[in-house]
Amino acid sequence: MTTPAASLAESFAPRRDEPIFARLAIIGIGHIGSSIAHAAKDMNLAGQIALYDRSEAVRIRARELGLGHEVAETAADVVRDADHIILCVPVGACGAVAAEIAGSLKPGAILSDVGSVKNSVVEAVTPHLPAGVHFVPAHPVAGTENSGPDSGFPSLFLNRWCILTPPEGADETAITRTRQFWEGMAAIVEVMTPQHHDLVLGITSHLPHLIAYTIVGTAEDLAAVTQSEVIKFSAGGFRDFTRIAASDPTMWRDVFLHNKEAVLEMLGRFSEDLSLLTRAIRYGDGETLHRHFTRTRAIRRGIVALGQEKPETEKLRKD
Ligand code: NAP
Repeated sequence: MTTPAASLAESFAPRRDEPIFARLAIIGIGHIGSSIAHAAKDMNLAGQIALYDRSEAVRIRARELGLGHEVAETAADVVRDADHIILCVPVGACGAVAAEIAGSLKPGAILSDVGSVKNSVVEAVTPHLPAGVHFVPAHPVAGTENSGPDSGFPSLFLNRWCILTPPEGADETAITRTRQFWEGMAAIVEVMTPQHHDLVLGITSHLPHLIAYTIVGTAEDLAAVTQSEVIKFSAGGFRDFTRIAASDPTMWRDVFLHNKEAVLEMLGRFSEDLSLLTRAIRYGDGETLHRHFTRTRAIRRGIVALGQEKPETEKLRKD
């Protein structure tokens, strides 16, 4: 298990002397929004950190937790004078929030998001962008199955990838400052197109989540006596699936609705491969099974070698 460090500065690097942004606005104070608030405050990445969530209960809780420096009462208020604005709401809400704040964004501001799907967010947000506002979409490939303002912690992004998908011809300074911001929270930044992002994440994140949701649902559908045994004897494999399948339903509904094509493409390939393995089991073709498992073992070792997972932990981090 990863134990969240009390502060990012303790586990990563000293705080910056000078912030990158004068005012950071975070819209959506859930798992990712609250983690950014913690990390940005710890590392002094913004002089002022202001937050907003549409839920009054969440705003009250954010104040109790001391997230950022200020919790605003409206989306327009939180973005006023902000030079970096991050949408930390479900993918399907990004367009509506962009429309809501468009009239209050100041020229030169950098608008960003953290959505797990990029192409549909770019399409939904771009029509609302006022002239002079730069859009640099981002996706931190980090997270747990928890949601809400209490679930954030400052070291969430430590040594995790953050993918930026700036549109063609985007302002280089805006990209550089967004990169510096994520690197300031200890993430490793990579730039790619939104389309490529959606394809890669379709196989590495979205399909695994769909499989987890399916398998846990299948187990739940079994007869009651078996159900209790499923829980009792849930060893590593099934337990990991249940953790993934406990992920936020709204967030994941939006991911599948907004990355439909890539997920359907990956699902088609997956079904074909599953049929091959099914056939190998049916006809006792041990050689095919062994060859397949040997290949997949090498992928796991590659992930460990890249430092994205410790060999002794089987905790699946999520994105
Ligand atoms: P979360 O914990 O559920 O938080 C989302 C928050 O946004 C909720 O408080 C929600 O309020 C609020 N919200 C929804 N619509 C809003 C609106 N129109 N205006 C203002 N606030 C609004 O979700 P999360 O896990 O932080 O995910 C947020 C984003 O990060 C998603 O786009 C997701 O794809 C991305 N992401 C998530 C992970 C992960 O593992 N969790 C990792 C990487 C990226 P209500 O409860 O009232 O709806």
